[in-house]
Amino acid sequence: MTLLRTNPGNRGFSSGSGYALNHKETLIFARNSHTTSMIETDILLIGAGPCGLFTVFEAGLLKLHCHLIDALPQPGGQLTEIYPKKPIYDIPGYPEVLAGDLIEQLMKQAEPFKPGFTLGERAEKVEKSDDGMWLVTTTKGTVHKAPVVAIAGGLGCFEPRKPPIANLDEFEDKGIEYIVRDPNFYKGKRVIISGGGDSALDWSIFLANGIAEEVTLVHRSKSFRGHPDSVQKVIDMSASGKIKLLTESEVIGVSGNGVLNSVKVLHLPEGESEIQTDHWLPLFGLSPKLGPLADWGLSIDKNSIEVNTFDYSTNIPGIYAIGDINTYPGKLKLILCGFHEATLMVQSAFKRIYPDKNYVLKYTTVNGVQGF
Ligand SMILES: Cc1cc2nc3c(=O)[nH]c(=O)nc-3n(C[C@H](O)[C@H](O)[C@H](O)COP(=O)(O)OP(=O)(O)OC[C@H]3O[C@@H](n4cnc5c(N)ncnc54)[C@H](O)[C@@H]3O)c2cc1C
Repeated sequence: MTLLRTNPGNRGFSSGSGYALNHKETLIFARNSHTTSMIETDILLIGAGPCGLFTVFEAGLLKLHCHLIDALPQPGGQLTEIYPKKPIYDIPGYPEVLAGDLIEQLMKQAEPFKPGFTLGERAEKVEKSDDGMWLVTTTKGTVHKAPVVAIAGGLGCFEPRKPPIANLDEFEDKGIEYIVRDPNFYKGKRVIISGGGDSALDWSIFLANGIAEEVTLVHRSKSFRGHPDSVQKVIDMSASGKIKLLTESEVIGVSGNGVLNSVKVLHLPEGESEIQTDHWLPLFGLSPKLGPLADWGLSIDKNSIEVNTFDYSTNIPGIYAIGDINTYPGKLKLILCGFHEATLMVQSAFKRIYPDKNYVLKYTTVNGVQGF
């Protein structure tokens, strides 16, 4: 097994499949060719939402390196996945900031500390190694090793809301996808999208603009939940023939031979039709689930992890929980509260990792920010 230390010294790209920041603050994506590699770091963060990202900065000030695992294909948690274009008004120092822009700024702030990322993989299993470290394995088998694990898992993993079609799993990732990970994957393909929210509307518009060969949007109702601008754009593109719009219709069956070939659509009130397609994207939204974290032996209260408010440690020594995922008397699920928790948590993590070292708090105005 290869050991990849993602600490200062060897801060190259460490992730299983994921992103790393380069000096120009752009995201570089790469796939892991070392399926048996182990990624080693100081603080292993489960969740790359705002609280996980801010931890990278606070840990970096203490010269601790972080690696983040996220089930989603991009960092940002709820802010990127649910409301990237909504303004937030309660982040100190920002009278108003778009959620997507806040994540961009957090990535920029974290950049000097060269975080590693394992994206598109869910943290599945935790165990103790012989040397007392934590080993966390993802759904794709990527193993991470760290003395401290900090769970910043928000509301849990986002699981797609699936339509009630019996043989759906036969074609998952063989023509049926619930998230658009890479729009170019649909280049020159026939695509059917289902849904009436922003995601369905936005991807229909995007893919119909020179990417997919053919885009059909199927929606149960005549009205849409998405942004009025996007609804109007879809109507205009339907009038000009760029999008085929089927309202009061619903996909009720899928078929193919190993890969998806066609979907059966129920039209109200006329009846059914079979439409040939290469892909069907049921974009009915994502719902969060605590998932495998519920089986890690952590003390859980109503889907949240109980922590103490001294350092946000859990009942398992060496595992902390910050942000929306934790609970304690008076807990508020707000970003700024998660930032506070991250700041206190890393102080405790430092003492755990370096029990013989004394850390003296210094202002960034005095010391500046010295990256790795
Ligand atoms: C519409 C909306 C508006 C909001 N407006 C505001 C606002 O104005 N102000 C405010 O302060 N807050 C607001 N919030 C709440 C705010 O978004 C949350 O408090 C914040 O996102 C919590 O950050 P987090 O880092 O704890 O978790 P999240 O942002 O939820 O990120 C957690 C990440 O962990 C990942 N994850 C979970 N489990 C695993 C696992 N096992 N393996 C791998 N990855 C995992 C998830 O995929 C996710 O990406 C709003 C929320 C919503 C939905």
